[in-house]
Amino acid sequence: MPEFELIERIRARASTRSDVALGIGDDGALLDPPPGMQLVAVVDTLVSGIHFPAGTQAADIGWKALAVNLSDLAAMGAEPAWALLSLTLPRDDKPWLDRFLDGFLELADRHRVALVGGDTTRGPLAVSVQLVGFVPRGQALLRSGARPGDRIWVTGTLGDAAAGLDMWPQRVRSRPEMRPLFERLHRPQPRVEAGIALRGHAHAAIDISDGLLADLGHVCRASAVGAEVYASHLPSSSALAGLPVSRRQAWQLTGGDDYELLFALPVDVDAGPLMPDALAVTEIGHIVAEPGVRVLDAEGRGMRIDRTGYRHFEGPK
Ligand code: ADP
Ligand code: MG
Repeated sequence: MPEFELIERIRARASTRSDVALGIGDDGALLDPPPGMQLVAVVDTLVSGIHFPAGTQAADIGWKALAVNLSDLAAMGAEPAWALLSLTLPRDDKPWLDRFLDGFLELADRHRVALVGGDTTRGPLAVSVQLVGFVPRGQALLRSGARPGDRIWVTGTLGDAAAGLDMWPQRVRSRPEMRPLFERLHRPQPRVEAGIALRGHAHAAIDISDGLLADLGHVCRASAVGAEVYASHLPSSSALAGLPVSRRQAWQLTGGDDYELLFALPVDVDAGPLMPDALAVTEIGHIVAEPGVRVLDAEGRGMRIDRTGYRHFEGPK
């Protein structure tokens, strides 16, 4: 594969930043971290058929490969800066690469992320992005600080991406009101500004990638606490709101790929005024001392949930 031609195509379009002393082209990138900041490094891989369904547009793959990493930085309260892109492509397909870059670079430019290097190889389609960001020393949001009595909040709406994935095979016949679900599946909006705004306020934070219950479970284990979630409070998009409640709640509680932030705030702090651009935020439960995550119905009775989200190597539970 004429790898250098592909790399040159990427280099010609990638934007840079003043803290990139040396970007694409040498054996490594030279980067100037700002004083007083800790670096936050994340990496996530998307594999064809596992992380995106067959028929996904190249531009959407490019967007999502960066978005899932931006979402991890958001959950740490970090400001993104530098990305590395590892591309494994079945063949030398320049039009595909151009469309991939359309999505990747659109999102990179929105968040002032510079693409500073990567790797290009031939094989089954897979995209891995490494992203580095900054957080003022000691101010990163962790999973581990939630305390009994804290209120649990989520940004945006839940369940749309999982619903979109379930309906993807029937997308051609789906009603127009359902289209936004596919948009949510393929173009997640990482909550970077919200994560930054939560520094100094949230006791704990995580991004919802595996599903609400699975990710809240991670916070609870890391914090050695438990949680109660009110099923009737789960925020729904207008596309989901009209669907039968049992299906809707299954997507909202156990479906993955939402990339919203979940965080714990002290009881006397209202998340609403903290959010940038009037981003919607909803209180969905509270932290308790007893371990485990329980879901309560509108009458306050415990509900049984049959899946705890998608787990790699185990398959859906
Ligand atoms: P090496 O063999 O030294 O790793 P490569 O040919 O892999 O060299 O890379 C040459 C340059 O191009 C490096 O700066 C590398 O970071 C960059 N690069 C390679 N692939 C990509 C990619 N997919 N995206 C961005 N930069 C890339
Ligand atoms: Mg290389």
